[in-house]
Amino acid sequence: MARLVMKFGGTSVADIERIRNVARHVKREVDAGHEVAVVVSAMAGATDRLVGWCREAAALHDAREYDAVVSSGEQVTAGLLAIVLEELPILTSNAHAAARVLDINGAELVKRFKERHEVAVLAGFQGVHKETGRITTLGRGGSDTSAVAIAAAIAAERCDIYTDVDGVYTSDPRVVPRAQRLERVAYEEMLELASLGAKVLQVRSVELGMVHNVRIFVRSSFEKPEDIDPHGTPPGTLICGEEEIVEQQVVTGIAFSKDEAQISIRRVQDKPGVAAAIFGPLAEANINVDMIVQNVSGDGATTDLTFTVPASDYERATETLIKAKGQVGYERLDGANDVAKVSVIGIGMRSHAGVAAKAFKALAEKGINIRAITTSEIKFSLLIDANYTELAVRTLHSLYELDK
Ligand code: ADP
Ligand code: ASP
Ligand code: MG
Repeated sequence: MARLVMKFGGTSVADIERIRNVARHVKREVDAGHEVAVVVSAMAGATDRLVGWCREAAALHDAREYDAVVSSGEQVTAGLLAIVLEELPILTSNAHAAARVLDINGAELVKRFKERHEVAVLAGFQGVHKETGRITTLGRGGSDTSAVAIAAAIAAERCDIYTDVDGVYTSDPRVVPRAQRLERVAYEEMLELASLGAKVLQVRSVELGMVHNVRIFVRSSFEKPEDIDPHGTPPGTLICGEEEIVEQQVVTGIAFSKDEAQISIRRVQDKPGVAAAIFGPLAEANINVDMIVQNVSGDGATTDLTFTVPASDYERATETLIKAKGQVGYERLDGANDVAKVSVIGIGMRSHAGVAAKAFKALAEKGINIRAITTSEIKFSLLIDANYTELAVRTLHSLYELDK
C-alpha cells in the first residue's frame, strides 16, 4: 500500500467524459489498495475565461475579488469529479477546507484515509490566506504546486502529475516533433527548464518538490486506465535528486520563452554609477531585469546597454527610464517586444567546456543574430528575434544530439 497524490491538469478534465476517465484512473489506484488524494485543475479554457471576465469588468480590479472569481474553475471540477467518483462507488471527501497551501492539514487528510477510507478530492490552484481566511490563488499553472504541497504534507510516496503529454521532453513536443521523453530529470534542471519557459510544471512546484524531496512523476492521463499494468512502470518522467540519475548527458533540454522584451539604452555615459542610476529605479518599480549586456565603449565616453524585462512590464520599464533620463544621461532608448529567449539546460555543463560556443556557431550558420547572452553553471540563454524561435530551438536540439 502506498500513499499517492494524483493531479490532473485542464485538458485532462476538459469535459465530463474526461472526468469519468480520471475517475477510472483514481479507481485503479484505490483498487490497488492505495490511499489517494486527487488534485484537479479547472476544465481547459475555464481559467482563461474567468480571467477574461475580470479584465472585462475592470482593467484594474481588486486582487481579492479576482482570486474569488478565478478559483471557482477548480471548485467546479472538484465537485464534478466527486460526483462521478461516488457513482463508481468511491467514498470521497471534498477536503477543500483542510487544505491551506503552505499550511496544509496533512494529519486531517491522513485521518480520513485511515478512518473513513475516503479519497480526498481537492481543488488545485488555491489556498486560504492565513490571517484573513480568504481564498488566494497560486498563479497560472498553480495546481502543480497544490499537488506537490499536499504530497509533502501527507508524506506521499509519489506525486503523479497527469497531463496531455506522457512526460517531460527534451523540448516542447509541440514545437520540436523529434523531442524525446526523458526518463529522469534532476530537480535543479527541471527548475531551470520550468523557469525558462517549459510550462509542463509550475516553477514553484519544482522548488517545493526539491525542498521536501517529493518524487514527482509526470505522465499521461490519456492512457486507458484498463491498459495500465498495476505492477509495471508506466511511461513518464521522474523528477528526482541528481544522485538518482545514472546517465547524465551534457545537455538535457531546451526551453524557450517569448515573454520577454528588450530595451537598449544608446550612448549612455561610460562612468561609475550609471548602472546604478538605470537599474535602481527599475528595481524600485519592482521590475525584474534579466539579461544584461554592456558594449565596450567605442569613444571612451559613451556606451550602449541592453537588457531584458518581462514583456508585461515593458511599457512601465520604458516610462521609468524616460523619467530617469536626466540622472542617467543617454541619447536614445530603443526597445523590441518581438524577441525570444532560448535556453539550453544541463547539469553536465558543469564539467564540460565549450558547450555554448557550439551554439553560437550553429545559429550563425542559420543567419540567426544573437542579441544578448547569459550563462550560469548549468544553463545558457540566448536572446534572438522571435521569428526565429522555432528554427533556433530545432537547430540546437539537433546540435546537442537530442533528436530521435
Ligand atoms: P496541464 O493542463 O495538464 O497542467 P500544461 O499545458 O500546463 O498542462 O502543460 C503541458 C504542456 O506543456 C504540454 O502540452 C507541452 O506542450 C508543454 N511543454 C512545454 N515544454 C515541455 C517539455 N519540455 N516537455 C513536455 N511538455 C512541455
Ligand atoms: N487553472 C489554473 C490555470 O489555468 C491552474 C492550473 O491549471 O494549474 O492556470
Ligand atoms: Mg499546467
